[in-house]
Amino acid sequence: PERIQEKIDYVFKVVVIGDSAVGKTQILSRFAKNEFCFDSKSTIGVEFQTRTVTINGKLIKAQIWDTAGQERYRAVTSAYYRGALGAMLVYDITKRQTFDHVARWVEELRSHADSSIVIMLIGNKGDLVEQRVVQTEDAVEFADDQGLFFSETSALSGENVNSAFLKLLEEINKVVS
Ligand code: GDP
Repeated sequence: PERIQEKIDYVFKVVVIGDSAVGKTQILSRFAKNEFCFDSKSTIGVEFQTRTVTINGKLIKAQIWDTAGQERYRAVTSAYYRGALGAMLVYDITKRQTFDHVARWVEELRSHADSSIVIMLIGNKGDLVEQRVVQTEDAVEFADDQGLFFSETSALSGENVNSAFLKLLEEINKVVS
């Protein structure tokens, strides 16, 4: 008998970047596996995870790359950005410095990635309401200025993680089709 196989229409490479400990790995595992790991250890070396979703009737495999700790050593290389159609640029709403560094990450993307890359700015750890130091309006203003999409997420609760990725994938789909 003929085997029915789902046919992937597109593979979209997405990179997750931002300062160390903002929650990049947790956001990725929340989206790819719907998991949050309380005792995660960062491993050295670039890794990716995938999740297949349907967007506008197309089957799209998101291949999402994690720096796996390399951002600490400024070792994120051009190979990491090569072929990336989207980027999740993550900061921690409870750590001002991680937001102050976002401009540098945008520069990094502009110099290493394709000029049509779709960028989503993510303010993570939204569950830590009491510790918030980066105001939503400041991030919205920055995102508007730079032409980035924006969302606040919590990898811990899962809030907005799916919708942020889906929005990014939808926007990439608009660029490629
Ligand atoms: P990375 O270095 O950017 O990949 O950050 P990790 O994903 O390893 O997360 C760094 C730390 O922040 C870990 O202790 C996580 O458990 C914690 N963390 C990540 N996301 C969240 C979140 O949404 N809320 C809270 N409260 N903690 C988080």
